[in-house]
Amino acid sequence: MIDKDGVATIEMIKSKFPRKDVLTRPKAIIECYQDIPCNPCETSCPFDAIYIGNDINQIPRIDFDKCTGCSSCIAACPGLAIMVVMIKDGKAYFKIPYELLPLPQVGEKWQGVNRYGEVLAKPCTIENVMKTKKTDRTAIVTVSIEQPFLYEFVTIGRQL
Ligand code: SF4
Ligand code: SF4
Repeated sequence: MIDKDGVATIEMIKSKFPRKDVLTRPKAIIECYQDIPCNPCETSCPFDAIYIGNDINQIPRIDFDKCTGCSSCIAACPGLAIMVVMIKDGKAYFKIPYELLPLPQVGEKWQGVNRYGEVLAKPCTIENVMKTKKTDRTAIVTVSIEQPFLYEFVTIGRQL
């Protein structure tokens, strides 16, 4: 439970995802569950896909029809609460914020990690690493893993 251990339940996680057919295109998944005074996700989206509104404490809502998966919101979120997800050919692709060094390299196999910090049963593959002036010190790492880990994977652990 998020109030006790800070980890969202599977129902809460799934509530942030669109239907799987929508995920054939990249979509932002915003795992922001509590009322906090924060809105860089809303102001960073060039497509007005994220809505918080006048009450900055509101939980962000996303319009998946408007979201292009452009990834601009990922590095803008100070809580590292946003990733962009897509499914294709039995794999789930995640663009995640990553702020540790050294950065992973394309083609490497890394541990996949769940929201409890536990290592997943299957490794993931580093597909891309993007670091630009705009994303400052937050790299955007694209990772692929088998689709059954869609609701489990949240970040990478260490290189295998
Ligand atoms: S991925 Fe791009 S279009 Fe989608 S919510 Fe984030 S900034 Fe907006
Ligand atoms: S920027 Fe991140 S932490 Fe802040 S409201 Fe948006 S999703 Fe939540």
